[in-house]
Amino acid sequence: MRVLKFGGTSVGKPERMKHIAKLINDGVEKIVVLSAVSGTTNSLVEIHTAYKKEGKKAAHKLIEKLEASYYPFIEQLYAKNSSIKKAKKLIGEVFDLLRSFKSKNFSEADAKIILAQGELISTHLFLYYTQEIGLNATLIPALDFMKTTDGEPDLKYIAKKLRKTLVKSGKHQLYITQGYICMNDKEEIDNLRRGGSDYTATLIGGALPATEIQIWTDIDGMHNTDPRVVKDTFPIHELSFEEAAELAYFGAKILHPSCVLPAQKSGVPVKLLNTMEPKAKGTVISEVVTRTPQRVKAIAAKDDITAIKIRSSRMLNAYGFLKKIFEVFEEFQTSIDMVVTSEVAVSLTIDDNTKLKAIVKALKKFAEVEVDKGQTIICVAGEFKHTEAGIAAKVINTLTKIPIRMISSGGSRSNISILVDSKYKVKAMNALNEGLFGDILKKKRAKA
Ligand code: ASP
Ligand code: MG
Repeated sequence: MRVLKFGGTSVGKPERMKHIAKLINDGVEKIVVLSAVSGTTNSLVEIHTAYKKEGKKAAHKLIEKLEASYYPFIEQLYAKNSSIKKAKKLIGEVFDLLRSFKSKNFSEADAKIILAQGELISTHLFLYYTQEIGLNATLIPALDFMKTTDGEPDLKYIAKKLRKTLVKSGKHQLYITQGYICMNDKEEIDNLRRGGSDYTATLIGGALPATEIQIWTDIDGMHNTDPRVVKDTFPIHELSFEEAAELAYFGAKILHPSCVLPAQKSGVPVKLLNTMEPKAKGTVISEVVTRTPQRVKAIAAKDDITAIKIRSSRMLNAYGFLKKIFEVFEEFQTSIDMVVTSEVAVSLTIDDNTKLKAIVKALKKFAEVEVDKGQTIICVAGEFKHTEAGIAAKVINTLTKIPIRMISSGGSRSNISILVDSKYKVKAMNALNEGLFGDILKKKRAKA
């Protein structure tokens, strides 16, 4: 069994939906995971925020606007009146549900029900289309088998229930399901956080286990660096699970940060493919890495990082200081990305500022604290051995004109991370690209 995931833009227009239906119709059995139509989840975020902050009237205005966008979509997608009727009925029901909330006592659980509707819509619309054109397709509801316990996917539960759901649904060529959405241990509808459809696909692929997981987007795989920031980039064809995880976590937008792990655990290769160019090679993420001479594979960047410097007058020869610091972050459920320590101070970074005030207050009880917002982590990923000379030097040498706030290497053998003020990001990324991939870029430019 294969698992294929299509993102929001791949299902974002009627003609795109038709295109992917054609793409997957090769007679091979598969599970198809879909995102919401692009823009829908953002609108749903606005809708639940409006319920909470502005009231019912404001929310209803947004709901109407989103609903109106779906009717022309339906008219263009289907040829048969019976399909149009079915789809309109579905849209009517979903939007009636969206209108049924009250602003008073609007809860987190309500918000999550609202957020789930995008994937519920896209999968149903796609199911009706595949059925209209005569594909042997069925829907397997993600809410029947995707579950989190304590906020994390419950792998055992997912594996067991997924198998049951598949057996129950009978033999089909296409099993369509929703990305992103799940149930939680309070029996409420929940989700795997923004961009979570990739994660759904690898959780399913890992649980089965599948022979292969394909993540279909609209670019030709993972690039050596971010094409939105750096002009001259090229696709990378092979990555190890570890490299891909570092890149996804540190800003490569093409993949959800947690999504590599389930595939890695089960050793299922993940392919990143382009719906616009289905024959292109894309990127394969797997256990086996061919020994390319290229040690540095890719550069990614993550913005909106806050750096916190924590200094103790008594750190010299003191123990327990780090523990005290980490306990504060644990208490406020904020995860730390980068850590650098010296004998008297610790610098670390977080990407979630919601509890920042409380964290600083707690830290100030035993240390001096300095906070810098607006930072960017640049992650250089590759295969770095601690016995090999020159890689860190090469990275730093390309950045001689950039003030470096923090640098961290040796945490894993796939990553060197650098923290800079975000105003230097573009300059730093370009310098790294030229410095680390100069040879490849030269060949590419010579060819062009
Ligand atoms: N629809 C969700 C989002 O926009 C999940 C996804 O697309 O992966 O975040
Ligand atoms: Mg995505």
